[in-house]
Amino acid sequence: MHSLQIDIQMNKRHFLKQSVLVSLGGMLIPSSILSSCTKKDSLEGATYKGKVLIIGAGAAGLYAGYILKSKGVDFEILEASSNYGGRLGKLTNFANFPIDLGAQWLHGKNSTVGDLVNNSNTKITLDDSDSKYWFNKKLLTQVPQNVNIFEGDNLPDISYKDYAIQNGLGNEYQYIVENIAGDQGASASKLSVFYNNLEEKNWSSGEDDFKFQETYYDLMDRQIASTVKDKISLSTIVKKIDYSQSTIIITDSNNKTHTADKVIITVPITILQSNDIQFIPSLPAEKTTAFSKIGMGPGMKVFLKFSSKFFDQNIIGGTVCAAYADESVGKSINDNVLLAFVMGNQADYLTSLGSDAAIANAILQELDTMYNGQATATFKAAHVQNYSTNPFIKGAYSYSTIGMGDARKIAAQSVDKKLFFGGEAMNINGHHQTVHGAVETGYREVVNVFNSI
Ligand SMILES: Cc1cc2nc3c(=O)[nH]c(=O)nc-3n(C[C@H](O)[C@H](O)[C@H](O)COP(=O)(O)OP(=O)(O)OC[C@H]3O[C@@H](n4cnc5c(N)ncnc54)[C@H](O)[C@@H]3O)c2cc1C
Repeated sequence: MHSLQIDIQMNKRHFLKQSVLVSLGGMLIPSSILSSCTKKDSLEGATYKGKVLIIGAGAAGLYAGYILKSKGVDFEILEASSNYGGRLGKLTNFANFPIDLGAQWLHGKNSTVGDLVNNSNTKITLDDSDSKYWFNKKLLTQVPQNVNIFEGDNLPDISYKDYAIQNGLGNEYQYIVENIAGDQGASASKLSVFYNNLEEKNWSSGEDDFKFQETYYDLMDRQIASTVKDKISLSTIVKKIDYSQSTIIITDSNNKTHTADKVIITVPITILQSNDIQFIPSLPAEKTTAFSKIGMGPGMKVFLKFSSKFFDQNIIGGTVCAAYADESVGKSINDNVLLAFVMGNQADYLTSLGSDAAIANAILQELDTMYNGQATATFKAAHVQNYSTNPFIKGAYSYSTIGMGDARKIAAQSVDKKLFFGGEAMNINGHHQTVHGAVETGYREVVNVFNSI
């Protein structure tokens, strides 16, 4: 008889991707971008005389602005929220170390963001923390059956949930599978095995996950946002983009108009799906259909502070939250903070409880079951960061849906050489869902603007 040992690999992506394996026994344009550019993609010697307007000051919009500034182009960034950063943010005064409200892991160093880390001597640590599984109401170091079934060839275009059932993973594996899909920001019933696998094949930034000693937000703030801050108009919600004439007219929620020759739109895909921005003329039907085929589900992070560390570094498979992580991993000082990383149906359920206190309470109850009441006994404080209820984000990050086909490619195409589309969901190189993927689209769309004249 073989004794099977399960080993979670925190490679490639931490919560975005964990594969469960069964084994027997000045202003620099980062070099990785320039080196991967063909001549046409490169901005060397390129110039543009018109005015560019960027919508959204998340990673993609900030980076587009940073590149435009380096090329001396006239630009402005309009941001709906009262802060820049989008799905990057920083929580201070909760623990004795700074906490990332949104993105926190650098997924592989072989990227523009990896170059920024190196060039700025930013301190990062490899995250190779251990996992426990909540399985059949017990905390185990391994689960009995191979669940590494979602990668390979000839995979069907069906959901993770259905594919797990087809492969004999019974009900008891439901929340382990929810965790794997949750890494992708999706419920297991919505994520396509085929398309997720296809999109992942392009991943090239490296297999290791790193944590920032400060925060991911600090890197982007210091290296990118600080250079374009004076060009950002905050609390400016774009409502209408009229591109019917040669000058594009953008109207914001205060009825103020802004004009530009080119517009780079980097808002989350949910904003485009829900028609929060009106386009005149309407966008081509092929494009809006493509928007609708890209998935983006609910997601939240809940931080819980305790007076003692009773919990494991990662806990996989909870029914309230399928993925918990010790937030202090990679930090130089460490209060006892546990992150509940909640995606898909679980995020919907917790949101439906109606208050942050109720959300924290539901999670504490689950942790009490796992750790014999120690959660409630040592609980000090909670902070809920719910991206689903943020009106300018409306979810976590994009995922691959059943039947999505070329949706990302079509969604990312420019319209009339005037409208350009960036943001993580528009990344077609397998780096969607990530900060570095968003940054890549910011650069790509500046190149597209320059090539459009
Ligand atoms: C909980 C969570 C954890 C994550 N963890 C990681 C991680 O560890 N590592 C990683 O690499 N990635 C992670 N991600 C994903 C990463 O945060 C995103 O992929 C990336 O930040 C997206 O950048 P963006 O510029 O495409 O979009 P955003 O950051 O969403 O920026 C878009 C901006 O557009 C603005 N906007 C919206 N509507 C309008 C409007 N009408 N007018 C003007 N502005 C508007 C928004 O306010 C927002 O600031 C995580 C995401 C979440 C939610």
